[in-house]
Amino acid sequence: MDLDDQWSYMKTHGDPGWKKFPCYLDKLIPRVLYTLDQLNLKITFFVVGQDAALDKNRDALKLLTEKGHEVGNHSFHHEPWLNLYSRDQIRREIIEAEEQILRVTGQKPIGFRGPGFVWSTDLLEILAENEYLYDTSILPTYLAPLARVYYFWTSNLAREERRQRKKIFGSLKDAIRPIKPFLWHLNSNETLLEIPVTTMPIIKTPFHLSYLLYLSRFSILLMFLYLKIALTLCRITHTAPNFLLHPLDFLSREQVPELAFFPGMDINTNRKIELFYRVMNILREHFELVKMSTHAEAMLNSNKTKIQYL
Ligand SMILES: [Zn+2]
Repeated sequence: MDLDDQWSYMKTHGDPGWKKFPCYLDKLIPRVLYTLDQLNLKITFFVVGQDAALDKNRDALKLLTEKGHEVGNHSFHHEPWLNLYSRDQIRREIIEAEEQILRVTGQKPIGFRGPGFVWSTDLLEILAENEYLYDTSILPTYLAPLARVYYFWTSNLAREERRQRKKIFGSLKDAIRPIKPFLWHLNSNETLLEIPVTTMPIIKTPFHLSYLLYLSRFSILLMFLYLKIALTLCRITHTAPNFLLHPLDFLSREQVPELAFFPGMDINTNRKIELFYRVMNILREHFELVKMSTHAEAMLNSNKTKIQYL
């Protein structure tokens, strides 16, 4: 789960109110942990450094590791133009987030996800230098340009802000990258494991929970059919899915009216949680559900993980 807080959605959307860091983590985290306990599931939470630095989140974030979940690094400032940063700026983003996450949760992250699915060569090299086990910033989908059009159309961004964010949801080059985990061969001759967010094999459309919930507004049957086709194709192509969750998969516009613009916020929370249980149980029929680091170890120990050159 990318643990994006209310302010980071508002920041990405261009709402100036984000600067006061409006927050829902203290309410959200206990609810999510309760549903995960019901399913007896341990997952990975990608935490934003800025949230870990705020005292008001300390108790909630500490619960993540106390309950046996993994914490990953989701950058410090959650800026989806991280790909434009200098090497030094990227290093600061990663190290400062890491220090805050370690301070609050007692765990050093070994996995990274870029905000808005952006990444750069410098970023991968800095992760390798700092002994990260895996990166999971790539979303290989042909729908990225469409998602971007929708995002710009519904946001309040000035021209310059749009220019900065032009890589949000990934580039066209990312669309043709593999869906299965692979090893980056870095310029330093080191390697770094990449675990792309899994999209539908062959047609590469996303099927993470936010997309499924959006489909459920049109038809529940369609939603489950789409998920089952995706998982069948994963099985046929021997792809272990890296399944993405977001806080808004558990929240509705009643709880966070400021984020009512986000697709699917008209579905009420109880309904979302019910669908979450059903989706997880379907995933569980076909795959063993584990934390990202466990999945990463398995991929690193497999001799089928291919190398990609930058
Ligand atoms: Zn995020």
